[in-house]
Parts: sequence; C-alpha cells; structure tokens
Amino acid sequence: VTPTEFETVPAVRRDAAGAAGNVVVMKFGGTSVGEPALIRRVARRLVDARARGRDVVGVVSAMGHTTDELLALAREIAPTPPARELDVLLSVGERISCALVAMAIHDLGVEAISLTGSQAGIVTDTVHTKARIVEVRASRIHEALRGGRIVLVAGFQGVSTHTKDITTLGRGGSDITAVALAAALGAGECEINTDVDGVYTADPRLVAEARRLRSVSFEEMLELAAAGARVLQLRSVEFARNHGVRLHVRSTFGDEPGTWIVEEDERMLEQAMIAGVAHTVEEAVYRVDHAGAADLAGVLADAHVNVDTIMQTGSEIVFSAPLDDRPRTAEALERLGATWSEFDHLGKVSLVGAGMKSHPAIAARTFATVRELGLVPSFVSTTPIRIAFYVPKDEVERTVAALHDAFALGAAEPAPEPA
Ligand code: ASP
Ligand code: MG
Repeated sequence: VTPTEFETVPAVRRDAAGAAGNVVVMKFGGTSVGEPALIRRVARRLVDARARGRDVVGVVSAMGHTTDELLALAREIAPTPPARELDVLLSVGERISCALVAMAIHDLGVEAISLTGSQAGIVTDTVHTKARIVEVRASRIHEALRGGRIVLVAGFQGVSTHTKDITTLGRGGSDITAVALAAALGAGECEINTDVDGVYTADPRLVAEARRLRSVSFEEMLELAAAGARVLQLRSVEFARNHGVRLHVRSTFGDEPGTWIVEEDERMLEQAMIAGVAHTVEEAVYRVDHAGAADLAGVLADAHVNVDTIMQTGSEIVFSAPLDDRPRTAEALERLGATWSEFDHLGKVSLVGAGMKSHPAIAARTFATVRELGLVPSFVSTTPIRIAFYVPKDEVERTVAALHDAFALGAAEPAPEPA
C-alpha cells in the first residue's frame, strides 16, 4: 500500500497513536454554520458530545455561500486565476468558520483549538482545486485530544507533499476531510450534520409518503448517490466504504437520529428489500454508432465528461452524461468523427436495494408498474442492486410515486436501528 492510494485502498490505515473507538468526527456543512447563532449552536453540539465522554473532532465547511463568493471575487479580478492562488483564497472560508466555532466553544468554558488542513496533517497530492488525500499525519490532533481539547479542523483543504502549498479537495470536499480523519483516527463513526435529516426512500418533494431510512448499505448509498440522490458526495461514500467508516447523516437542527450508512450485514437487519427510488432529470443520453467509436471511453475521459451508464449492443453504444457536460460531449463526439444522436427529453428513474440480489421478481414488478402507467421504459440498465431506466422527463414524478407505492416503501421499517 503506497500512501498515494489512501483514498481508494480497501484497508484502514490507522494512525499508530489512534485511540480507536472513542473518537467521534462531527462534520457540519455550510448551511449549519451560516450565521453566528448557528455557529454557537454547532459549538454546543460539540461540547455536548465531549460531555458524553467522547474525544471530539469537528470538521466545518465555509459559512453559507462563502466559497461561491470567493470564487466570484477571484473571477472578477482575473478570468482564469492561477489554481495555486485560487486554493490559497478558497481555503480561507473554512478557516474562518473553524476559528469562530473554536471561539464559541471557549465561550462555553471548554478548551478548543482550531487547525488548518495543513496543521491537522492532511497531506495531499499536488493537483490544485481537486487534490486527493495521500496521508493524514494526525500527531497534532492526538496531542490536542490528549490535552482534553475539542479539535476543530478546517474542511476541504490540505497541504501538498512536494510543494508544501495549500490545496483544496474539490467542491463539497469537507465530507472527504471528515471521512479521512475518521479513518486515520480510528473513529467509530463519522457524523455528517447537514440541512436534511437523512436519506429518504424517494425525494420527499416528489413523494409525500417518502420515509427516512434508518440505515442503508454503502453499496446502496453509492447507487442512490450516482442515481441522483444528493445527500452525500459519491467520493466520500467510496472512501468511507473502503476504510470501514460508518457514516451517520443527520440534521444539525434537531436531535433525532438520521440515516446510518453501514456494511450490508448490519443494514440487512432491517430486512427491507428496497432502499429507495432515486431520479434525475439532469442527464442527456447519447446513442453512438459503434463503427469508428472504438476509443469512445478514452475520448470522453480526455474531455472530462462525467459518463454515467455506458451500454453496448452489437451496433451501438449508449451512454448518459450530465446536461452540464453537453458542449464538451458534443465536441468530443465530433472530434471522434462518430455518427451520434442525443436525447435530452428523458429522465432517469432508479430502484435501488440489496434485496434485489435474492428476489428476481422485483424487476418484473418494476416493469409491470411502469407499463400500467402507459409508459415504455427505455435504455434499461441493471446492476445486482439497481434497476435504472429512462422515461420522458414529465413522467418522472408519476413513475417515482408509482414505484414507491408498488413496493410499499412508505411503510414502517421492521427492525430497530443499529446504533
Ligand atoms: N466550502 C466548500 C464548497 O463549498 C467545501 C464544502 O462545503 O464541503 O465546496
Ligand atoms: Mg457539502
């Protein structure tokens, strides 16, 4: 195992000094620290966890829209700011919230120390604005915890090995900071405190009966996130799975437990076959004639197109990619000289659940339900735990609701939560 693989290796690289189990990493997103009153509330939550006897490490995002504002400011100064300077600028947002939370904790009479990513030992590669963590050297965190302090770490940033420059981890990267620290410190869990109270069986804005899941497996969460559920960043779920870090997604604004993201055995205690129905209307589907498209995947990768599903039949290749990537995708396909067509009127609906593996009838019921709506699903693709297909965009809502109903996903779950 080389250090450069820290984010992806299927093993836990624990810091030798790690006090396994007693550490809890609690991450708070931008809306959770958006204003002074909320910052004091976050401080209170960290102090409460400390009072329960835990060694507490807090990771915070920048306040509200700070990162967007800093980006806009940079672009106003120069249309293409150097990536190194952009990282110096963007890292400031998290430092501000971190220092403010530490001050609020002091005000409650408890010792706390804020650390930048670099001070916290978050070592990354040298790729500015989307660096990957290669190692966590947590000696300063351990020292502070031993001294009885609450440790605040600025999310979304690190320091590069070779250049010693400040790096950032890509948008939404504070989740990665939190998971990496949990893995390195041997924390039993990583709490992701956010503005939603967990992962739902469907988007509650679409389906009134949607229910918060008590738990979901890493694999199910990865499929749900890839299928359009926006609660957690895909990369941080992969990281957590690879390092065995249990995640707890919950609301900053309430005290109820949220959704646990755990290994499949633990999830299966609940016996629910289907975790949920996810959807997205933010993809375009492309059909490319196979002849002459031999290096399609390579060309799309070079063009930084985030390809999702790729399906290949005898004469054609079908793939989907974000609507945002449309110009780049079209350009890449033209460069390839391929014959292709694009469908931008479709939305993807995905049914996800580990129970599918042992219940083949789920596919049959899915398609019967879609047929009863008078729809013909197109571009069907499956994995052992997911069935995905496209319907016209304006039929997505009806389809999600019908499947949610057909599989009774709104009904109460049988088993207690695995806390
Ligand atoms: N503040 C950064 C962003 O807005 C990182 C984060 O919020 O996790 O992308
Ligand atoms: Mg976020």
